[in-house]
Amino acid sequence: MSASLHRSDLAPAVFLDKDGTLVRDIPYNVDPRQIRLLPKVGAGLRLLAAHGYRLIVVSNQSGVARGLFEEQALSVVETRLRELLARQGVSLDGFYYCPHLPNARIQRYARRCNCRKPRAGMLMRAASEHAIDLARSWLLGDILNDVEAAHRAGCRGVLIDNGNETEWKMTAQRIPDWIAPDIGDAARLIIGEQRRHSAVHASWGVRVGHA
Ligand SMILES: [Mg+2]
Ligand SMILES: [Zn+2]
Repeated sequence: MSASLHRSDLAPAVFLDKDGTLVRDIPYNVDPRQIRLLPKVGAGLRLLAAHGYRLIVVSNQSGVARGLFEEQALSVVETRLRELLARQGVSLDGFYYCPHLPNARIQRYARRCNCRKPRAGMLMRAASEHAIDLARSWLLGDILNDVEAAHRAGCRGVLIDNGNETEWKMTAQRIPDWIAPDIGDAARLIIGEQRRHSAVHASWGVRVGHA
């Protein structure tokens, strides 16, 4: 953040896991024809965008490090995802992925990076590139590694509970702020919380930065 940037110049974001959150989870799929948005994604994202949230995908794509597909395949995926969302009246503000995995087959991607969730690198980078206020931001994801990445970045995390988390390894950082069945519900929770927050500040006579 540059010295001339005030917190009120920053926008909140909703960071979005891709597989199992935005689109049907097919492990390591990069075939654009197989990509399907999950129910209520369009409505939920339209609601969030209308309330000023930037929409930014943050996706682990270790298939690159595993040698299952080339990094360029992900730009085809991004194009297809943007197309499907555009039909729903939604435009993404950013698309970030981590191609790495420690000890993986493809040498140049085989490393312990800072971007693979549960680490917060993708969120931190997106925050600086898109002038995001992390403290007012959220991450929606279908496993607890997503929730942990949110908390490490100083955001709140909603678990979209669709059965994809199977290990439930709990630490304090992995406890979701909310659990929702889909993005439609998660969006309503976030907007409701934003309203409550603004109302509390207004009743205390505190000027809210983003009001
Ligand atoms: Mg996922
Ligand atoms: Zn990485």
